Amino acid sequence: MTNHEKNLFLIVAIVLIACQETATKSKELAISETQKQTSEFAIVIHGGAGTIKKENMTPELEKQYNDKLTEAVKAGHDILKNGGDAMDAVEASIRIMEDSPLFNSGKGAVFTHDGINSLDASFMDGKTLNAGAVAGITTVKNPISLARKVMTDSEHVLLSGSGGDAFAKALQDPNIEIVPNSYFYTENRYQSLQRVLKREAEKDAQNDKEVAQLELEDPFIKDSKYGTVGCVALDKNGNIAAGTSTGGMTNKKYGRIGDSPIIGSGTYANNATCGVSSTGHGEFFIRAQVAYDISAMMEYKGMTLKEATDAVIQKKLIDLGGTGGIVALDHLGNVSMEFNTAGMYRATMNDKDELIVGMYKE
Ligand code: ASP
Repeated sequence: MTNHEKNLFLIVAIVLIACQETATKSKELAISETQKQTSEFAIVIHGGAGTIKKENMTPELEKQYNDKLTEAVKAGHDILKNGGDAMDAVEASIRIMEDSPLFNSGKGAVFTHDGINSLDASFMDGKTLNAGAVAGITTVKNPISLARKVMTDSEHVLLSGSGGDAFAKALQDPNIEIVPNSYFYTENRYQSLQRVLKREAEKDAQNDKEVAQLELEDPFIKDSKYGTVGCVALDKNGNIAAGTSTGGMTNKKYGRIGDSPIIGSGTYANNATCGVSSTGHGEFFIRAQVAYDISAMMEYKGMTLKEATDAVIQKKLIDLGGTGGIVALDHLGNVSMEFNTAGMYRATMNDKDELIVGMYKE
């Protein structure tokens, strides 16, 4: 190589390196621009996904849902606005929905095959990745508060059945109210079970899978299955928390447990990525690890919250045959309310006090 060629080679190399640096800088700029905080704090809730259609709704019932969702989201929002903790906001919002017979959680939970109400809930702190959950408990008025207590006051993550009820009793905490199972009774949920049982007897189906399919095809029964509640909050300190509470699915048998008390399926929170609460046909949400998968896609693939929730709910879950939705928010205050059913009860509020309440597919 002559000296002239060497110099030429050096100049080309310098120009190439300079170009690459400029490209990297503008890429960094593009990323930091899209990574702007959209809301200093935020909250999002759901009250279940399913065949929620305007034509099946009366104006009175629509108003009841609207009012209750607004009350629940505002309760959590007030806590966040006053500088409170995301975990307190999640618990407060969910307790309001658990106390309302409109939703399939706490009062108004669906009935098991044996004619009782058996409740599941989970709770997660995105700062520490600490979590607590209960499954199949029958005597605690607000299962979400018990799930939080499992996280803070026990060395375990998931307590089930009579053990969960015994833990609740032993706590002797006024926030963990013990009630008879009859407290959860509502006439319409009881009638839903009777309808499913009648259908089972009529069809004299040979196996559970056939019955499950028949139930899915019955619009009344399909509607009666959903109504789980959930909440995700981001507080002013950048902490994310998430929680979910449910009665599960009408006519559940053999101690069936759905996705709601399963960390990673029904609930997940990580300050570095997002918080998620799920609702829908639990078996599919467990198989798809919906809540964790959304967080993992953000963490490992660098996806935005919108891209990740869309990929999981509209693609992966649908490919499996799963129906339902999620509410989620990321550390920047972006919110996602994604569902692949006809509707999902939902509401959100941000740091500008903007309130969105929805039920149907817009
Ligand atoms: N995911 C709940 C379950 O399978 C039901 C629901 O979300 O409505 O238990």
